[in-house]
Amino acid sequence: MKVGRPLERFCKRGHDTEAVGRIRKGWCKACADMADAAGGVGGKQKPGHSPGWHRDRVNRWLEIITDDPMDEPQGTHARLLEFETRYARLETEVPTP
Ligand SMILES: [Zn+2]
Repeated sequence: MKVGRPLERFCKRGHDTEAVGRIRKGWCKACADMADAAGGVGGKQKPGHSPGWHRDRVNRWLEIITDDPMDEPQGTHARLLEFETRYARLETEVPTP
């Protein structure tokens, strides 16, 4: 049971919401972008909104966190390190242009 936890800094997909921001409670901005890239929340798909490299990063990120999920109960600091490890991997494999 997860009772009385504060709004998590890391979303369920492991994004650092302090880095990427939130669009509303429970949705971090990166997840919203990913949903966009994947076909959209509500099916809205703006032309040219998701360049190929962004989609590649989203897909790679999903593979990374599927392969190595951040679901161990642990403190914020450990979570941050976990996040940074995975993010470094993403940057190495699919760098931001
Ligand atoms: Zn997220």
